[in-house]
Amino acid sequence: MNAARLLPLRSSLLAFAAASLWLTAPAADPSPRAVDVRVVEAIPTAQTNGFFVANKPPLQPSPLLKLPIGSIVPRGWLRHQLELEADGMIGHLPEISKWCKFEGNAWSSPEGRGHSAWEELPYWLKGYGDLGYVLGDKKIISEARKWIDAVLASQEADGWFGPRELKTGLKGKPDLWPHMVMCNVLQSFYEYSGDPRVLPFLSRYFQWLSTQPDENFGAGYWPKTRFGDNIETLFWLYNRSGETRWLDLAKRIHEHMQDWTTGVHDWHNVNIAQGFREPGIYFQLSRDPRLLGAAEHNHQTVLDLYGQFPGGGFGGDENCRPGYTDPRQGFETCGIVEFMHSFELLTRVSANPLWADRCEELAFNSLPAALTPNLKALHYLTCANQVQLDRSNKAPGIQNSGTMFSYSPLEVYRCCQHNVSHGWPFYAEELWLATPDRGLCASLYSASDVTARAGDGSLVRISEKTDYPFSETISFQISVDHPVSFPLYLRVPQWCENPSLQINSRPVPVQGRPATYLAVSCTWQKGDIATLQLPMKTAVRKWPKNNNAVSVHYGPLAFSLKIKERWSRYGGTDLWPESEVFPDSPWNYGLVLPDQNPEAALRLVRRAGAVVAQPFTPESAPLEFRVQGKKIPAWKSDARGMVGKLQPSPAKSGEPVETITLVPMGAARLRISSFPVIGSGDNAHEWTEPRPTSVSASHCFESDTVEAMIDGLEPRSSNDHNLPRFTWWDHRGTHEWVQRDFGKARKVSSTAVYWFDDTGSGNCRVPQSWRLVYRDGDTWKPVETDSPFNTQPNTYNQVRFKPVETTALRIEAMLQPDFSGGILEWKIEDL
Ligand SMILES: [Zn+2]
Repeated sequence: MNAARLLPLRSSLLAFAAASLWLTAPAADPSPRAVDVRVVEAIPTAQTNGFFVANKPPLQPSPLLKLPIGSIVPRGWLRHQLELEADGMIGHLPEISKWCKFEGNAWSSPEGRGHSAWEELPYWLKGYGDLGYVLGDKKIISEARKWIDAVLASQEADGWFGPRELKTGLKGKPDLWPHMVMCNVLQSFYEYSGDPRVLPFLSRYFQWLSTQPDENFGAGYWPKTRFGDNIETLFWLYNRSGETRWLDLAKRIHEHMQDWTTGVHDWHNVNIAQGFREPGIYFQLSRDPRLLGAAEHNHQTVLDLYGQFPGGGFGGDENCRPGYTDPRQGFETCGIVEFMHSFELLTRVSANPLWADRCEELAFNSLPAALTPNLKALHYLTCANQVQLDRSNKAPGIQNSGTMFSYSPLEVYRCCQHNVSHGWPFYAEELWLATPDRGLCASLYSASDVTARAGDGSLVRISEKTDYPFSETISFQISVDHPVSFPLYLRVPQWCENPSLQINSRPVPVQGRPATYLAVSCTWQKGDIATLQLPMKTAVRKWPKNNNAVSVHYGPLAFSLKIKERWSRYGGTDLWPESEVFPDSPWNYGLVLPDQNPEAALRLVRRAGAVVAQPFTPESAPLEFRVQGKKIPAWKSDARGMVGKLQPSPAKSGEPVETITLVPMGAARLRISSFPVIGSGDNAHEWTEPRPTSVSASHCFESDTVEAMIDGLEPRSSNDHNLPRFTWWDHRGTHEWVQRDFGKARKVSSTAVYWFDDTGSGNCRVPQSWRLVYRDGDTWKPVETDSPFNTQPNTYNQVRFKPVETTALRIEAMLQPDFSGGILEWKIEDL
């Protein structure tokens, strides 16, 4: 990536190339018009577009402005996703979710008393209301309005609203997180309706928030990491009310919340997905470009470590964990939609087209497969490599235990079940943005109609027709009552090297560059059509940090192996079933690719006929690749049904060559997206089945792993939660053991144990006592030593002993009464 992109470049308009031509109208008007096309890296902010709400000084001028909700009418496959959402789980959640029951709900009660007093209802309403607004669906709008009216009627004299129990929800202090989400609900409602109750209501709430001590902005795990959401709302309110006290409050929040300006210090996937952007949001007040750079840096940090596979997300299941970086790690559905929303906000703040690229990448490749094709159920975790979606426990392969992969509309996925609501509606609201020079910008590409004021203030309607991302052609038909001059900005994605443009079928000579905008200035007349070509190329991407695996791309789309799906219902109702999906065809293929120009080995096949309404299924995918592959027999699922980890490429295979089919990643609910490459040379790797583990225990908690003891990851303390760990949880006060088997006799003389102890947050402690025994024939014998068997936390407890030759060592531990225990690392030294 171009390092210069780390800094905003809006101080000057960089024009790389300019082209102009004389144009005649398609209609009767014979007068020729000048068209000026520039390739720009920044959108100028010197002018003010008074038609839309923009940042007021002293906030940094926004290069891109959100249009009023309702200005953009999505069409094509995107509209169908929204219609499926309305017909599916999100449109019917009050029938399914106990948190969305109006009666007795703490969010709908005037006194703020009742059930469901946390994030679920606001999560759902945040997307549900917008779903109604973007579809113009009166039933949804009126159902959302019922809830919003109730929330607006629940305000206390001091400004607090909603559930009263949240006011003291954190050990007597307020739990401020769910209110951040409800503020977003009210922002959208106001943008749609202009309801006069909203601004005074939010002012009263933020007045109450202003009375809170600074320490409350850094309190509570969820609130402190996500407080940037409130900063965004405060800027939104300031731009509408002009009251500088909201900027003062934003500054206090920024200074006391989780620090995201100096890097990533919290590794929960959803906290990252919404928290990483906070410096970029706060940049608008500080006007320090290093903060915009900090958001970019945070994104790079996370993706470099945990996003080394296609799809635009990262492995955080529930947290990112050192050592868990294989493409079989998952990204929570909440993480997918929050990451998308972060990218949408940063696009507006910075006009850096890379953020829009990243939003499309997630929207096309990861979001669709997080849901069933009818959007009636979802799963918690979506992985780049994921070959079986059964309901059984996958921990510790993924961090969470229990059902995480199968599709369900029910409360098993609680947060995602409600929060997924805003993914597609927010996306649809950001397709088009306004520019300070009274122009319009096509930021995210989709078939749509936009109606907005531009140029001299005339209403301009643009009909965008395209099957993008399944087509590289996008046409914009302009509709105006009289000729109107305004610039039309068209985003050129990073992957596109040679965009081209025609206006009324006449080519415009333009030297486009990746990650720029084409700024097309013209006096537009009714019927003018601008046609943008964004040529897509087949690309094979190598992932050195994941064993040199490769992925296949075409424009913004990544591709996955087409695996035959067998769906099996296991629960739910006929209307709202829960389903497992099993592979009915082999998946363990490596790709046969030449070293030079591997793209030449891939053949693109376009499905005949028009793009169907729901293109995100293996059967309906508009594009496929054919490529040669070979099975790797030793690449198997593990005992819990998770795809085996990647091993180094090139990998050997003695199997016959087959032609295999790849489909877009978003269409593949079972998927291999990161492939090994087949090779035969001296450097080729013999794929091996994982050896039976050499470490065992009297008991291991299902979310922990015995492997953690020998993974070589150095703990920073006994309470280090960033590492895989072994625990005997939930055995308490018992006599337990762990064992290392060597396979053959080894002469050993020293061992060192780093105990796990989560005093302050859990119920594991260093043991009361322990000893070391070695295998001698059929019995275990204590080692001979004068060293004490220490139980110090935060350090290795080393014991040197008289050397023994043995095939196994065992630690026997007596746990403290009422407490469990565990081990982070166990080292053994040979003589
Ligand atoms: Zn979630």
